[in-house]
Amino acid sequence: MRRLSQLAGIPVTQLTGVGPKKAHGLAALGIHTVADLLMHYPRRYLDRTNQARIADLAIGDEGMVLGTVRRVQSRRTRNRRSLVEVDVGDGSAYLRCTFFNQSWRASQLKAGTNAVFFGKLEQFQGRRRMTNPVVDLVGDRTGRIVPVYPQSEKAGLTTWELGGWVEEALGRAGTFLDPVPDDVRRRYGLVDRTAAMRGIHLPESAGDHREARARLVFDELLRIQLVLVRRKRRLEASAVGVAHRFDGDLVGRFHQRLAFPLTAAQARAIAEIDGDLASPVPMHRLLQGDVGSGKTLVAVSALLVAVQGGHQGAFMAPTEVLAEQHHLGIRRLLDGLTLAAEGDNLFGERPVRVELLTSRTSASERARIGTALAGGDVDVVVGTHALIQEGLAFRSLGVAVIDEQHRFGVEQRAALRGKGTAVPDVLVMTATPIPRTAAMTVYGDLDVSVLDELPPGRTPVTTHWARTELEEAQAWAGVRAEVAAGHQAYVVCPLIEESDKLEVRSAEETFRHLGEGELAGLRLGLLHGRIAPKDKELAMDAFRAGDLDVLVATTVIEVGVDVANATVMVVLDADRFGLAQLHQLRGRVGRGRAPSWCWLLAAGEEASPDAEARLGALERTTDGFELAEIDLGLRGEGTLMGAQQKGRSDLRLASLRRDEVWVGRTRDVAFCLVDGLGGLGAHPVLVEEVALLLGADEDDAPDDRTAFLFKS
Ligand code: ADP
Ligand code: MG
Repeated sequence: MRRLSQLAGIPVTQLTGVGPKKAHGLAALGIHTVADLLMHYPRRYLDRTNQARIADLAIGDEGMVLGTVRRVQSRRTRNRRSLVEVDVGDGSAYLRCTFFNQSWRASQLKAGTNAVFFGKLEQFQGRRRMTNPVVDLVGDRTGRIVPVYPQSEKAGLTTWELGGWVEEALGRAGTFLDPVPDDVRRRYGLVDRTAAMRGIHLPESAGDHREARARLVFDELLRIQLVLVRRKRRLEASAVGVAHRFDGDLVGRFHQRLAFPLTAAQARAIAEIDGDLASPVPMHRLLQGDVGSGKTLVAVSALLVAVQGGHQGAFMAPTEVLAEQHHLGIRRLLDGLTLAAEGDNLFGERPVRVELLTSRTSASERARIGTALAGGDVDVVVGTHALIQEGLAFRSLGVAVIDEQHRFGVEQRAALRGKGTAVPDVLVMTATPIPRTAAMTVYGDLDVSVLDELPPGRTPVTTHWARTELEEAQAWAGVRAEVAAGHQAYVVCPLIEESDKLEVRSAEETFRHLGEGELAGLRLGLLHGRIAPKDKELAMDAFRAGDLDVLVATTVIEVGVDVANATVMVVLDADRFGLAQLHQLRGRVGRGRAPSWCWLLAAGEEASPDAEARLGALERTTDGFELAEIDLGLRGEGTLMGAQQKGRSDLRLASLRRDEVWVGRTRDVAFCLVDGLGGLGAHPVLVEEVALLLGADEDDAPDDRTAFLFKS
């Protein structure tokens, strides 16, 4: 019985015909050991009995054809790009494959070569054509179903060679030890690992392949869930939290004073959070909700539970602008709310004390706030994520809220983990709706509450993608009309990721242009990352007060800015922005009762298919969850898992969309195994595989940024 870890100790050079040169080629594919090789799964299968013929493929279809190269031609296009044209025939018809900027194709695809071409069939000047298809050299391999491996043409490996080595490795490996308990396998009808390994590489039928894939997907997702669930349980076991008391009336009075009733979603989230807060197990909860769903109120409610019981709260925002915004917002929410005062206070009551601490806070203020926090004279401190690094001492920090918006930093969360004395309850907020399965994967070590409902009285934002100059002119006319009606507007400047400096310059230019041109005569303000803090504040204040008609800004307004009178937004070069980001930006309008508009400017004929899909989706819907699904489909989970490097490297077959049900099932299994008799220790082979494929759990490493939270 073979373990994967044993195969991970055998270098590929032990296989027949793998000399230094081939080993080098394999290394380029990330294959060093026999285990790597066996986990290099076929990218598709060539079913010789069920082969699409060129003549059968319809224009616009994606498909795969096996054919023989008849003629190859290399030339340069007018704008100096290399172009290789390959004519392929399969007896039924001809197909022309064109490759841009892949001049090496000319030597790869010589006349007479058999290859599989996978791509979308187009019609061009009366001919069948594929542009930049994926090519797999199949050689003269026989067999009914032939696996086609992702390969490195430049490294000089063919799918044929890879297949041969895999076959040899499978033969020599024999039977695999299966780390998943029998009863779990039975429950979900999963084949054993030996069958899975054979079935993915050498399927004899589509059924074989399907079963094999299901099993390997299960393994991939289970490993990730084991890491997350173990992390969650360890944290709960290793730390003692605060069991908050609910006998005060501060939170109740806060809710009563609100000018509106809570949405059902808010009430549910608050109840879930209160449940966590009442328990001595430290809370680690994610609050997910679309822009404008009212997360702040839920967060403040949690902070007040801490304050009510004599503890303190911290609220951390990703940027200083946001910290300032939140500070204002929270003060406004708490305005007039009082608390029984200790000591000899004449009135027996005092206001809830909220302070702001950012890098702009002066040294003397900082010292004063520091002392006040240590002495318990501040109830809630608002700051940036840098609060974590500050080395501040609290008298008793009870609840920490981390507003991370769409930044998936695991670091801040890690920084709040600790050992020893009472650990604060942590609420992480994100404004990016994440599909449920993705949340379970990216944030699987947290509990999740969802605000899936917007407060009533919002009018959905009407979104137009302005593709032509005429439509662009309509956008500016729209801005003028709204301003004339007493409303306000945002103009979002082009995003320039490469350089902050260029972005600022372009924002300044946009500001000037608009002031002299399209928006001449209106009162414009400018806001970007390099404007002096004081001026930034002035601009924001002026806009809030209605002394500015239009705020021309970079993405600094992406989050947190809350001006209900702003009813129109124009985004320049909208195709440069990501879908989630545009959705965030758009959330700045439509916050009041008046109808709102969002104009996305991007020349129609220049838009890439991807940009077209993004902008089109925004025109169609304002539902953040739907957009998140679309985004996931467009970008793939790779990007989503960006922060979770380890997880990404192990998602080879599994797709969070396609394999949604398996995400939930593996999570259940992970809980069963971690919480079962003997814990994960009873499954040493699984533990070994998790360590092998996902690396050692970094949780065990001490993290000195935790210091400030535990100084109390
Ligand atoms: P988020 O942070 O989720 O984007 P906010 O907390 O900033 O949303 O709330 C958006 C706006 O909705 C704020 O102006 C807030 O006062 C208002 N709001 C929050 N909850 C409710 C509610 N239940 N009913 C009406 N308005 C609400
Ligand atoms: Mg908010």
